Amino acid sequence: MNKPAELKLQSVPLWINGRTVDPAVKRTGEVFNPATGQVARRVPFCDAALVDSAVQAAVAALPAWRDAPPLRRARVLQRFLRLMEENQRALAAIVTDEHGKTIPDAMGSIQRGMEVVEFACGIPHLLKGEHSENVGTQVDCHTVRQPVGVCAGITPFNFPVMVPLWMFPVALACGNTFVLKPSEKDPSASIRMAELLKEAGLPDGVFNVVHGDKEAVDAILNHPQIGAVSFVGSTPIAKHIYETSTRNGKRVQALGGAKNHAVVLPDADLEFAAEALIGAAYGSAGERCMAISAVVAVGAAGDPLVKLLAEKAQQIKVGAGDGEGIDMGPLVTCQHRDKVASYIDAGVKEGARLVLDGRKAQFPKDGFFLGTSLFDQVKPAMSIYRDEIFGPVLVVLRAKTLEEAIALVNANPYANGVAIFTESGGAARRFENEVTVGMVGVNVPIPVPVAFYSFGGWKNSLFGDLHVHGMEGVKFYTRTKAITTRWPHQDTPAPGGFTMPLLG
Ligand code: NAD
Repeated sequence: MNKPAELKLQSVPLWINGRTVDPAVKRTGEVFNPATGQVARRVPFCDAALVDSAVQAAVAALPAWRDAPPLRRARVLQRFLRLMEENQRALAAIVTDEHGKTIPDAMGSIQRGMEVVEFACGIPHLLKGEHSENVGTQVDCHTVRQPVGVCAGITPFNFPVMVPLWMFPVALACGNTFVLKPSEKDPSASIRMAELLKEAGLPDGVFNVVHGDKEAVDAILNHPQIGAVSFVGSTPIAKHIYETSTRNGKRVQALGGAKNHAVVLPDADLEFAAEALIGAAYGSAGERCMAISAVVAVGAAGDPLVKLLAEKAQQIKVGAGDGEGIDMGPLVTCQHRDKVASYIDAGVKEGARLVLDGRKAQFPKDGFFLGTSLFDQVKPAMSIYRDEIFGPVLVVLRAKTLEEAIALVNANPYANGVAIFTESGGAARRFENEVTVGMVGVNVPIPVPVAFYSFGGWKNSLFGDLHVHGMEGVKFYTRTKAITTRWPHQDTPAPGGFTMPLLG
């Protein structure tokens, strides 16, 4: 297998109009290999003019792509899916190289992203509208779903393949063209996907990639020819994206940060729950928007659960993501590792019981490693509970009853995912019904909906109305047009008149 082109590059290119572009820019960023702490390559930061050149490519490509039959668009995605399968391992290596997560974890996340491509291949069916015959005398009504136009995606560092795949397969299948601005921390995988899309037969200009930070993002939000913006990232930036895009008349879905709870009832299989929670809390070094970061242990579940979690958490093998038998890789950057470690200091100062201290673990000093940490007896006012830490730190709170646990979860301003562990159908049903969170798992620690459902949280975890992929994704990337037609039969002339037409 050929080595992907971008691994040889010193500077990650842009992708505009079906080819790579190495722009002259004033500002660049550093892309690290988090396992070695070394700069792996540089990434150009686009200004408004460079963003505009990508948008113009997307504008020019729009008419032909919009008018291509949906089945033809789906066939491009079918070929892209096959190429993604063939290149999955190589893409996972790029993700591990720039993000740090283990290869199996990267493979799994790419798989989940590819499932959105599979979903989007069904677009001829998904785009079908409604039709009513005889809404009035000789009058029919039907709806069509038409593409929005040029759409943009702005994505976070933690899933450099999967999160872009939540967006562009559905957008392209619906007949839109697309400009992606991936995270500047791990930008290379997007360029590889652009190459694969071209190989799959996607016309030039339909999919484009720009890089950068706030300047590039703001150029997208203020661009008059972009009709829709999909964003995934932290809550403060999601709010900025939502407010700026809506002010500029764009449709927007802005998915934000999270503080996901798992409620464990005393009747749960505690061994099973602890095993599930370990993967959900420390997998990908806790850098998942659906990571469980707060456990609410109810009643007698508390002491035995904390004991099991501590035993299992200290067995986690930390090391380079491409190492044999490694469970957890490094954090994405040195600054992020230090920020996560500072929360462990804060938790101790605030009076929580530090059961396992990840700062004490020994690692190669150049990588951005941190061990697993576990806190017990955490109170809602503590910063380790209030803030999204986004690292390998799990906090345990205690509640006396299920009602108290539900109230705690519902008082949290984040509402992305939540799970309950119990053997009681009645308790689970009540939880499902009363909890004010967008995605709920029952004995499932990370309830990420499959591609043909839609992904999204509530409250501070999502600004906008529609979630990503599934039917809500199709709705987001299309506008509905309702068409009313009158075709009078020759022998019965249609009624005329100057009053408000009545269709009886
Ligand atoms: P981030 O908000 O820092 O960055 C996300 C994107 O916004 C990047 O492309 C970045 O370049 C851009 N950006 C950063 N600062 C900006 C600014 N001031 N103005 C405009 N654009 C800016 O997020 P991150 O650190 O890359 O990712 C981690 C966050 O993403 C966590 O909060 C996590 O919960 C969240 N996340 C949420 C979901 C979800 O589905 N809700 C999924 C994945 C990640």
